[in-house]
Amino acid sequence: MDTRQTRTRAYSASPPRPALRALEFQGSDGCDSTVVAAFATGAHCVSGVGACASTAPAVAAVTGSVTSVNVVFVATPENVTALAALSEKVLSCRACPRLVDWREQVACEKRAAFASEAYWGRPVPGFGDPAARIVLVGLAPAAHGANRTGRMFTGDRSGEWLVSALWRAGLANQPESHHAGDGLELRDAYMTAVVRCVPPANRPSTGERDACVGYLDQELRLLTGARVLVALGSFAFDALARLGGTRPRPRFGHGREVLLPGGRIMIGCYHPSQQNTFTGKLTEEMLDSVLERSTALTGSGPPGRGSRRGDVPIQRSPGSAGR
Ligand code: SF4
Repeated sequence: MDTRQTRTRAYSASPPRPALRALEFQGSDGCDSTVVAAFATGAHCVSGVGACASTAPAVAAVTGSVTSVNVVFVATPENVTALAALSEKVLSCRACPRLVDWREQVACEKRAAFASEAYWGRPVPGFGDPAARIVLVGLAPAAHGANRTGRMFTGDRSGEWLVSALWRAGLANQPESHHAGDGLELRDAYMTAVVRCVPPANRPSTGERDACVGYLDQELRLLTGARVLVALGSFAFDALARLGGTRPRPRFGHGREVLLPGGRIMIGCYHPSQQNTFTGKLTEEMLDSVLERSTALTGSGPPGRGSRRGDVPIQRSPGSAGR
């Protein structure tokens, strides 16, 4: 895996990420207090006027004012390795007898349209950019989607909807998500779920949720750059609020934002299930709007969209226990 997944964005006063590795000055001979704060985390300047190879000396050497600064994010090799190890752990999990039976039964019986395919039939790990600032959290793998292909939001209509929206937002390199080898890459985004095995009728029990949510917790701890968590549906919204320890517990709403303890922002979004997209409960515009808001908050996405918006005020929900 390429561990040097980098991107740039206009620097803002938001807290620097642990994965921050470098700052690039542009057209400036100076440094201001926010840049000093970023340097203090261990970042170092790699290009531009005042370029240097170390931190404190750089801050001491640079004077004046900065007109613009790009922040370069790199997923740390340690985090990439730890995420891979977590995926291995998930893949071998058989903690929920009912879900183990179901995932294997679905893989054995198959849908007629996929009768010639070998189903995955195992737990499904998260997928995406280890340095992601936007994490999308669903309920669980779909029976003939991720449980067939082995990759989150891949091989079904929900995945098509979500990935095409990520592509429009500049967070994916292609609009399709057909199978695990289709070349899909996420940029600054990561897809995962509360429960990693397909549940009958898409309804995991409370015990199954509690058995599996620890994987999501570990994943979110390793995704150190994550700033926005998009909860796809009320199940994910509730699970993330529980993990975040938010009190009082906020109620799900499409577009609802909750500032979680620790500073991450959770945004509610109707799940792109066929039930929601066929009925018009979730439209492309609604999904685009949530991703546009996410990229605006993080500065992600293509030039001209989120990356040039700078800081955007957080819309605190009434139930938010934000700082
Ligand atoms: S749902 Fe989660 S905890 Fe249960 S068997 Fe699957 S991976 Fe393990």
